[in-house]
Amino acid sequence: MEIVKGVHLLQSARGSYVYLIESQENTLIDTGFPGRAQKMLEEIKGLGVRPDSIRYILLTHHDVDHIGNAKRLQDITGAELWVPEEDIPYITGEKNRPGVKRIIQSIIRLDKPVINGRYAPNQCFGEIRAIHAPGHTPGHTIFAFRNVLFTGDLFKTKSGALKPMPGYMNWSQAEVAKSLGILKTLDYEWLCPAHGEPVKRSRAVDDFINSACPDRTQ
Ligand SMILES: [Zn+2]
Repeated sequence: MEIVKGVHLLQSARGSYVYLIESQENTLIDTGFPGRAQKMLEEIKGLGVRPDSIRYILLTHHDVDHIGNAKRLQDITGAELWVPEEDIPYITGEKNRPGVKRIIQSIIRLDKPVINGRYAPNQCFGEIRAIHAPGHTPGHTIFAFRNVLFTGDLFKTKSGALKPMPGYMNWSQAEVAKSLGILKTLDYEWLCPAHGEPVKRSRAVDDFINSACPDRTQ
């Protein structure tokens, strides 16, 4: 599904969406639940994009439903995998994921990807800018591309409305609230989360953000 020109939601990654950005350098945002790589590659080819033209795979964070096909996709596409620095120990297995995520990681086995780079603050990949928005995980990162924000698990959406992620899935609620405040400083028309459909900016979106992050000195 094309959200705006050059931004595709990969339906084959249902459950934890992956986005393909066609720009000077084709880029994937996240990689979905494990076991979906082949279906995603077929969908990408169906869009007329050659897998080996994908230059970057950018992860929003370390959770298994976001890094699930990272290794497979990087092997097939030859793309560089970039990740948030603070989430690296969870990707490499040096640290266990906290709480319920520890149980999930013991059930879902993953091939460990090769990390090619870690984001510098506001690092740009062509027209895509990485913005540190921690809270869901310590390194959680969102991305801005033209009038679209890829928001990872900063929130989810349901029936066109923004909803908070369950608190037990978040590393720090206070950081999530602060990170939602970052959205107030950005210009955008579309929000593309991993869980739930993309949502167009509206009064209701602004209200959600304002109530989650009331104005105060941060
Ligand atoms: Zn997720």
